[in-house]
Amino acid sequence: MEEKLRALSAAAKKSLENGANPEELKVKYLGKKGELTAVLADMGKLPPDQRKAVGALVNSVKAELEALLVEAAKNAEDAKLEAELKGPKLDVTLPGRSIRPGRRHPVAQTLEDIVAAFGKLGFEVAQGPEIELDWYNFEALNVPADHPARDMQDTFYVGGNVLLRTHTSPVQVRLMQKQPPPIRHVMPGRVYRKDSDLTHTPMFHQVEGLYVEKGTVSFAELKGTLDAFAKAFFGSSVKTRFRPSFFPFTEPSAEVDVSCTMCGGAGCRVCKQTGWLEVLGSGMVHPNVFTHAGYDAGTVTGFAFGMGVERLAMLRFGVGDLRSFFENDYRFLEQF
Ligand SMILES: [Zn+2]
Repeated sequence: MEEKLRALSAAAKKSLENGANPEELKVKYLGKKGELTAVLADMGKLPPDQRKAVGALVNSVKAELEALLVEAAKNAEDAKLEAELKGPKLDVTLPGRSIRPGRRHPVAQTLEDIVAAFGKLGFEVAQGPEIELDWYNFEALNVPADHPARDMQDTFYVGGNVLLRTHTSPVQVRLMQKQPPPIRHVMPGRVYRKDSDLTHTPMFHQVEGLYVEKGTVSFAELKGTLDAFAKAFFGSSVKTRFRPSFFPFTEPSAEVDVSCTMCGGAGCRVCKQTGWLEVLGSGMVHPNVFTHAGYDAGTVTGFAFGMGVERLAMLRFGVGDLRSFFENDYRFLEQF
């Protein structure tokens, strides 16, 4: 057994001198199934009087091998570092890869421009929750329970009386509950409807406005305000046209058209040869809405209006499919 140990030690040293990998040698001799480990396991078979001497020898061979392997590993590490230092230098002055600059999303640009145009007319901004109670979204706005707008087909119900708001109008009611007149605010934000086609997406943006005063606010003031907005947003040469319409929360109500921004009113594909583009809905606030919001419907009057931001962005940028705004295709978005 002594001879076996000496032979083993000599073989290991020779392998190291010949450049064998220290890690591999460690496994070969000192590992669980290593050769030296196997010798140790055989110690039990020796007569008791030999065990002590052989044991001491095994331990000294083991210690010697371990020291040699540690040194060899360190030498290998040093050699590797030396080779790296002698190799080609890393040029830290090379220019880095730059991040492409971002830009405002066309819908965000449009929304900001709408809010800014009303800001110049003295309108402040008000906001409210996107997850809304049925009462604020419908009931308070004079939309009774049997109204078709409350159809489950059109609206995302979260459950019970809770839904994703279908317009930003609930903010008008919340605002009136919070503060007495006068009110001169616009409400921008996301709204949700169960729609998806060329001109509808399940989520889109609206800007609504509310103007309320004690005393008489006239329809002429509504027309003047919206005409001033149209000229600020589309350009001073656009004309506006008011057509009678119906909304549950206003009476009387009117759709507002602007002269076509593509053809100047002569008639084209975008305006379907009419020369006019429908851009927003408006009207004098219905007395029931004032009552629901806690105002005295006998002493206050006002007007409200609302528009779809994506629709205005489509008209402004000549985009044919509303869904392209939300596909996040850089080739589309970088055009604006
Ligand atoms: Zn046109």
